[in-house]
Amino acid sequence: MAQDDIFKKIIAHSKEYGFIFQSSEIYDGLGAVYDYAQNGVELKNNIKKYWWDSMVKLNENIVGIDSAIFMHPEIWKASGHVGAFNDPLIDNKDSKKRYRADVLIEDYIGKLEEKIEKEVKKGIKKFGESFDEEQFRATNPNVLRNKTKIDEVQKRFVSALEANDLDEIRNIIIDLKINCPMSGTCNWTEVRQFNLMFDTKLGSVADDANTIYLRPETAQGIFVNYLNVQKTGRMKLPFGIAQIGKAFRNEIVARQFIFRMREFEQMEMQFFVRPGEEMEWYEKWMETRLKWHKALGFDQENYRFHKHDKLAHYANAASDIEFKFPFGFKEVEGIHSRTDFDLSQHQEHSGKKLQYFDPETNKNYVPYVVETSIGLDRMFLLTLSAAYKEEKLDNGEIRVVLRIPPALAPVKLAVLPLTKKDGMPDKAREIMNELKLDFNCQYEEKDSIGRRYRRQDAIGTPYCITVDHQTLEDNTVTLRDRDTMAQERIAIEDLYDILNNKVNIKTLLKEVL
Ligand code: ATP
Repeated sequence: MAQDDIFKKIIAHSKEYGFIFQSSEIYDGLGAVYDYAQNGVELKNNIKKYWWDSMVKLNENIVGIDSAIFMHPEIWKASGHVGAFNDPLIDNKDSKKRYRADVLIEDYIGKLEEKIEKEVKKGIKKFGESFDEEQFRATNPNVLRNKTKIDEVQKRFVSALEANDLDEIRNIIIDLKINCPMSGTCNWTEVRQFNLMFDTKLGSVADDANTIYLRPETAQGIFVNYLNVQKTGRMKLPFGIAQIGKAFRNEIVARQFIFRMREFEQMEMQFFVRPGEEMEWYEKWMETRLKWHKALGFDQENYRFHKHDKLAHYANAASDIEFKFPFGFKEVEGIHSRTDFDLSQHQEHSGKKLQYFDPETNKNYVPYVVETSIGLDRMFLLTLSAAYKEEKLDNGEIRVVLRIPPALAPVKLAVLPLTKKDGMPDKAREIMNELKLDFNCQYEEKDSIGRRYRRQDAIGTPYCITVDHQTLEDNTVTLRDRDTMAQERIAIEDLYDILNNKVNIKTLLKEVL
């Protein structure tokens, strides 16, 4: 099935099964803003827990905070967001559609990369066992032609970005004949810079002095609290501060469902280190974070690192973890070595010393920072995209199943009485009342067992139990596994252990230790 179709199905599935609703839907929605529904909020909370525990619980030297969304406006001048948090935008004069100029060029490069991969696949098919991929990539004329083209475009693009040369960015789009996907024409406006921060007024007097911003990232709330945490927690370098919270960006082109939203959530951790040791920690966090992703057990081929060609003003190294979404490899998480930029800027703008006294070297200095920053909503979309499967069963039927890792699944157990008679519902309730103290359970008695299984498959419930006549006689139930669809008879008293072994977040945390 075409990837576009899969993506459409995932979006439709998210709504139909109570994961995500368009915000303000009865008023025709609000662009790029979404609400998490009854199953979505559970999945989201579980992802948060997996991230939070892996940071704060597993690391003695990482603590969490929850800072306010509103902050002193000077913070955003110090961080560079007032002056430089811009995206280059361009409009197509025929369709009147607006695009991010950099994304148009990146997508063009992405298409060339796809062509190379297609060529390699053709090679594998043609040469079978004897296929030497390395040699093929180094010698095949089509691969080489596309590779040279990518390098050329990349080089021109990076130097235009570095020089902040908006005319050159436009020239690249024109020279490459990149057309508007809507109108199909190359009739473009100039490229302009657009600041992504939302502003609002604090208090009742509407003058400029009261303009404050909705934070575009959670990181600054960590930086401005760095000394408070260090002192009150008696933290010694290296140490980290983690935070999960909302961020807001007035994205020019909000597309691809919850991939790019205007209100979203970030899970960020700033790790403070000795100057000079940042590269070691940067490498270490890249490895740790990839391990965290891979522990979920999704197709390992679908992850890759992308090293930044153009570094942000604050960074001396940066990489993204990219995942293969149905619309291609895209960033889910950034790992950035931010030097002492942020703390030094806040020191200068606030006039307060933000230094660390190192008892080992007897010196005062501003620590360096390595950050890991992941979008919670993107992680949610990653999980749905990787978990969504349409499977053909032996009887020819198609079942739609979300193979969500059990520890993240919204509902862990469905309790199903075979019929509404003979005291089965009472027995089912009794089991559920015990287990719901530990696990998120759902009770369902409507429709045939088969249809109830399908509904649970569609929301990713790892286990269903059926209470039947035999249960009333010997206290056993049928336990049905979502992935294998196998059913086995087990004693009610064993249920807790079986479930706990599979759905406890511990199962994931052990993998990242
Ligand atoms: P992009 O290049 O996709 O705009 P970015 O490089 O600006 O992302 P960062 O500022 O590094 O992103 O933010 C860290 C993480 O926050 C990203 O990896 C992404 O997962 C998430 N994120 C950023 N912007 C959005 C958004 N508009 N909607 C949802 N998640 C976002």
